[in-house]
Amino acid sequence: MVQDKEGVLPPQNRRTASDGLWIKCEKCQELVYRREWERLLQVCPHCRYYSQLTAKERIAFLLDKASFKEHDKDLKPTDPLGFKDSKTYKKRLAQAQKKTGLFDATITGEGQLGGHKVAIGALDFGFMGGSMGTVVGEKITRIIEKATKRRLPLILVSSSGGARMQEGVFSLMQMVKTSSAIAWFKEKGGLYISILTHPTTGGVTASFASLGDIIIAEPKTLIGFAGPRVIEKTIKESLPEGFQRAEFLLKHGLIDMIVERHHLRKVLIQILDFFKSEKCPL
Ligand SMILES: [Zn+2]
Repeated sequence: MVQDKEGVLPPQNRRTASDGLWIKCEKCQELVYRREWERLLQVCPHCRYYSQLTAKERIAFLLDKASFKEHDKDLKPTDPLGFKDSKTYKKRLAQAQKKTGLFDATITGEGQLGGHKVAIGALDFGFMGGSMGTVVGEKITRIIEKATKRRLPLILVSSSGGARMQEGVFSLMQMVKTSSAIAWFKEKGGLYISILTHPTTGGVTASFASLGDIIIAEPKTLIGFAGPRVIEKTIKESLPEGFQRAEFLLKHGLIDMIVERHHLRKVLIQILDFFKSEKCPL
């Protein structure tokens, strides 16, 4: 897995290579008229490359207009270990906060989707690679608990490099916390739809992202725990073509479906309609 200086997968928020009327696709370098690119939900019409959406963009395009009510907006991260590598954790947090306008790497809340009330959360890869520290874990857990209490369908959209190493064991504890909350949610009969977007890796894959009743991925999404290089070195074998991509994982039963971004909202509404209808055997 490629890592940049920040210790996470390379940020994909590089898409605005040209500000103004045109966007340069970061994959094929073709120019796309900005309005067209926005209409296509930031998918390149030339090469079908999926730019990453911010958590805010993701929630805005999935939910019914103006229906979102954000929860726990003001939860702020601390620096429990006084961590420092090439930069202090405090400095990294300040930079990420300035870049994204968020206190940490997730937005959670409630809204309507095709008229259905839902609890929703999305990770923001632009904030330290969407990594899960105590604030991300706490916000995700709280939204799961609210969904349990209010009997709402739960939708979580992942995009993450994994656990946040700067918070050490505190970040690893979030895997247990979020997974336990999901177990309780399911015990109470809740419906959880997990959406995996590029990339979903590490401690997020190994916890709530893989626990959906229905797991949906966007095309070509990288999904895994450790990166392919680490696995190849460990097992001393080369990996098959397309290993850890959504298409490979669909074939091997790890995910339930791959949905193009422009169909995602429609598919979610169909699923929510079905589970509410009399046809649903549950
Ligand atoms: Zn392109």
